[in-house]
Order: sequence, then C-alpha cells, then structure tokens
Amino acid sequence: MGKIISIANQKGGVAKTTTAVNVAAFMAMEGKKVLIIDIDPQGNASSGLGINRLETEYCIYDVIINGVSLDAVTHDTELENLKIVPATIQLAGAEIELVSAISRESKLKKALRSIRDRYDYILIDCPPSLGLLTLNALTAADSLLIPIQCEYYALEGLGQLMNTYELVRKHLNPHLEIEGVVLTMFDARTNLAIQVVDEVKNYFRGKVFSTIIPRNVRLSEAPSHGKPVSLYDPKSRGAEVYHELAKEVISHD
Ligand code: ADP
Ligand code: MG
Repeated sequence: MGKIISIANQKGGVAKTTTAVNVAAFMAMEGKKVLIIDIDPQGNASSGLGINRLETEYCIYDVIINGVSLDAVTHDTELENLKIVPATIQLAGAEIELVSAISRESKLKKALRSIRDRYDYILIDCPPSLGLLTLNALTAADSLLIPIQCEYYALEGLGQLMNTYELVRKHLNPHLEIEGVVLTMFDARTNLAIQVVDEVKNYFRGKVFSTIIPRNVRLSEAPSHGKPVSLYDPKSRGAEVYHELAKEVISHD
C-alpha cells in the first residue's frame, strides 16, 4: 500500500510546493510509482508539472465535493512514474462548501482508499492554511512533512501547526506521524540561517532531515518551464539536494 505524505505548513512561501514536486520527481526517477495531489487552489504544483490549468476541466475539487473518482482526474506527467491530480481555481470554493458537508474532514481519505495500493508514494501539496483542505490532507496521510524556511520568523506559527497535528491525531487520524522537517532556502553566508538550523533542530529533536536545501536559482526557474528540476537542470545543486532528500524519505521505509 502506498505511503501518503502530506506536505504542510500554514505559512506561504516556505517551499512546500517546490519540495512536493521535486521529491516526487526524484522518487519517480528512483523507480517508485508516485502520485502528487495538489490541494492548493493556487495550483502551483499543477502548473509546475506542466498542467495547463485553464484547459483542465476536472480537478481535485470534483473529487472532494462531487465524489468523482481520483482516477478520473489523474493526469500523466513527463516522467513515466509520476502522475498528478491537479487543482484549479475552482478549489477555492471548497473550503466553504466543505463546512456543512458530512464527514467533511475525511473526503480525501475516502477517495484515496481505492487507488492507494497502485502507488508507492502519494504526496499531497497543501495550501498555506490550516483549514478544511489541509485537515483533509492530514486525515488521509500516514505522515506529515514540514518544510521550514531558514529565515527570521522560522519558528513562528509552528506551535499552531503542531497543535493541529496533535488534534488530528486525537480526533481524526491516530496513525499520523511526523515524516520529518526539511530546512529550505538555506544561505550559508548568513549567521541567521545557521542559527535557525540550530533552533529548528532543538525544537524538533531527531526529526530534521540531514539534507538541507540551499537557495538555488534553478529551483525557482524550473516551474515556469513546467518541469521538476530533475528535468530542467539535472546537474544543478538544486537537483542534487532534492535527489538526496528523496532518497532520505525513501530510506524511512
Ligand atoms: P509554498 O508552496 O510553501 O508557498 P513554494 O515552493 O511555492 O512555497 O516556494 C516559494 C517561492 O520560493 C517560489 O517562487 C519558489 O520557486 C522559490 N523557492 C523555493 N525553494 C527555493 C530554493 N531552494 N531556492 C530558491 N528559490 C526557491
Ligand atoms: Mg505551494
């Protein structure tokens, strides 16, 4: 059965999507069968993998709100082992529409039941909030992967995230574990970044991936070409580190 990993942090711009897309791509290149599910209405993972969102008729919205099967909305990517369930702007309405739905936190979990044994890994790219879409992702997941940007307010808001994690474990999904914390956009030239690494390691004792992701311009360019960095510039430092991170995640099983 495929392992379901939710990539979440209610802060925007911490590299959730960059991590989801590139870890998924390298897992696929390691021979794993991977599905990435985009549940952020901004749909950055979808466009970052070459999906034209304006031409996409059905998306994860139809799965969560209308009970359409995940298979019906799954798209191929340039990588043979990597598939994606895209998000379009229509998903923005789901957060409100879910409020009055029955078992509103378990829609995604239910939808995943019939397809999860066909994949080795299912990665869910969460929106920058702790609303019902993220709750659906955490309820469906085996583990939570948290990207943290190496900047001044790095630890701010993590209490809230961990609180949500504990609440989900208590009420919705007792099996949810922490896959790990990945430090992103590290700049070795600043003392601040080094300090943040220490603080995060202190807070998350033993849960921090040894791979630290540095700033790398290729990582920020790749999405505008609709490609993961493994295809856009496989020799870049960005590709190298995300390959390492993917192997580290795989090694947990
Ligand atoms: P989130 O999904 O958490 O909002 P993104 O993955 O979209 O964050 O990243 C935010 C921005 O930072 C994007 O423009 C992305 O291309 C850029 N970015 C992410 N990681 C790196 C990195 N290691 N080096 C340089 N730019 C990065
Ligand atoms: Mg994102």
